[in-house]
Amino acid sequence: MEAPAPYAESRPLAVEELELGEPGPTELRVRITAAGVCHSDLSVVNGNRPRPLPMLLGHEATGVVEVLGPEVTDLEVGQHVVMAFLPRCGRCAACRTEGLLPCTVGSRANAEGTLMEGARRLSSPTRGTVHHHLGVSGFATHAVVDRRSVVPVGADVPAPVAAVLGCAVLTGGGAVINAARATPDDAVAVVGLGGVGLAALLVAKAVGCRRVIAVDALPEKLGIAQDFGADETLTPDEVVQLKEKPRVVIEAAGHPRAFETAFNATGVGGVTVTVGLPAPGAMSEIEPLKLTAEARQVIGSYLGSAVPAVDIPKYEQMWRDGVLPLEKLITSHIRLEQINEAMDELDAGRTVRQVIEFPEA
Ligand SMILES: [Zn+2]
Ligand SMILES: [Zn+2]
Repeated sequence: MEAPAPYAESRPLAVEELELGEPGPTELRVRITAAGVCHSDLSVVNGNRPRPLPMLLGHEATGVVEVLGPEVTDLEVGQHVVMAFLPRCGRCAACRTEGLLPCTVGSRANAEGTLMEGARRLSSPTRGTVHHHLGVSGFATHAVVDRRSVVPVGADVPAPVAAVLGCAVLTGGGAVINAARATPDDAVAVVGLGGVGLAALLVAKAVGCRRVIAVDALPEKLGIAQDFGADETLTPDEVVQLKEKPRVVIEAAGHPRAFETAFNATGVGGVTVTVGLPAPGAMSEIEPLKLTAEARQVIGSYLGSAVPAVDIPKYEQMWRDGVLPLEKLITSHIRLEQINEAMDELDAGRTVRQVIEFPEA
């Protein structure tokens, strides 16, 4: 699958028919209605996040329940669900940290490309067994997933909005709410305005943070941030020069230079939250004295330190109340056949969220 950009030419992702097994006892089959194209999908394609191959990608998705395994008694056929890409067993030590640490069992299943109970339900005569991507594999018309990989969502939520709840919003919003514990008294800066960064911006506005600063090197992104309601838009060079530094800075670019910018932009007593996924081995340079002398914190947050079953309904309600305009995140609606072109758009930073829609067959 790994291939050089432009992906429209190297075509690392093939669109083809696979066989989908029946759901196991704790699993269900979902007809996918929409799937967002996220940077973590691109990270598999460009080799930054090595995964077992072959793999069916896509981890930010939503759909309608079609078939339930015998042990899944709390969902109904026809119910709408959002996929959560880090299933929680609910029993391990990490699960008892309320989202602070990713579930050990779920993380292992994700690393091995299986569902929660170790099964792989995807195969084809030519490729053999195909791995699941983060328990979801949403770039497909249907998925078999574990019960612990889905969260029910209202049928009134449009599919593209429901899809982005599962990754961009959980991660960006969780960085603000769970990791930084931002309040209306806080100024918040967001460094890196992709889907996750802009979701963080929207959530910071929704919880009433008094000043929200959007930071990106690309002028187009700063224009988008203005439309998203940012109080101020700055380049990385400008934000570190601010006299009144924000208490909370979220790094959502996944680049070591962006982390340095975020660290240097954080105020005294402040917290720098990093949610990005830089290339393995990439190094940042920071001045540790600032941590001590300014009583600062640096927090790494995976999936926005979220418990999806708790947080997704919270964001869903904020959307319904009109304070979290998630439609803004969706910059284009595409077909599955355009997936390699979508990777190029993402790679070039030309887009916020491209959402693949699956018309009902
Ligand atoms: Zn994602
Ligand atoms: Zn667990």
